[in-house]
Parts: sequence; structure tokens; C-alpha cells
Amino acid sequence: MSKTLFEKIAARELPAQIVYEDDRVIAFRDIKPVAPVHVLIVPKKPIPRISEAAPQDEALLSHLLSKAAEVAGTLGLNNSGYRLVINNGPDGGETVPHLHCHIIGGRHMGWPPG
Ligand code: AMP
Repeated sequence: MSKTLFEKIAARELPAQIVYEDDRVIAFRDIKPVAPVHVLIVPKKPIPRISEAAPQDEALLSHLLSKAAEVAGTLGLNNSGYRLVINNGPDGGETVPHLHCHIIGGRHMGWPPG
């Protein structure tokens, strides 16, 4: 199986501005930011999308979310707030088939999303 885009970033085969990494997740700046702060946090395991996560991925998903909040804090977003987004499938706007959570902040965001 060929590596996903985000596996290549984790393997340092593609450049990225990495802001956090541990044995299970990696976080790096989005190449096309939609806000002053836009980081993706990604499980190193290449789960294609949240709808394909398995019961045994539960601890990894928990780790992903708690690290997303920790990274948002280290990026200075705790007081102003931020949004965590997971796009799933065509209607969700998913473009990279390797599960990732967007951490977006530094400006006010509207609701509902477009
Ligand atoms: P999604 O549309 O939820 O699948 O999000 C995919 C995100 O990956 C988009 O926001 C892209 O801008 C971002 N992206 C694509 N290629 C790269 C890359 N090489 N480095 C960083 N972010 C990327």
C-alpha cells in the first residue's frame, strides 16, 4: 500500500511546519490556511476517515481529541476560542483520505458552516 499524503509528512518525505508530534499523532500547519491559525492533527495510523474508525481505535481517537485541545492551547487559542473540524466524505468536504482534525482559530467564525 502506498503512503498517504499525511503519512509522507510524518515520515519527513514531504515538508511541513510541524507543531506537535508524539508516537501516535502529528500536528502541522495547513498548507492553505483559512484562518490566522490553521493546524491539522493527524493520527499516524492511516484511518481513512472517522466513519471507518474501528472499535479498537477508540483510545487513539480520544488521544487525538485531547491532543487537539492541548495543541490549540499551546498555539494561544484558549482565551479567544477555536473550532475543531473533521470533514467526512464528499458532503463533509473531505479532500485527503487520511483522518485529520482541523484546529482553526485567530478569527471569529460563523455558524452554520458553508
Ligand atoms: P479536508 O478537506 O478536511 O480533507 O482537509 C485537507 C486539508 O489538508 C486541507 O485544508 C488542505 O489545505 C490540507 N493539505 C493538503 N496538502 C497539504 C500539505 N502538503 N501540507 C499541509 N496541509 C495540506
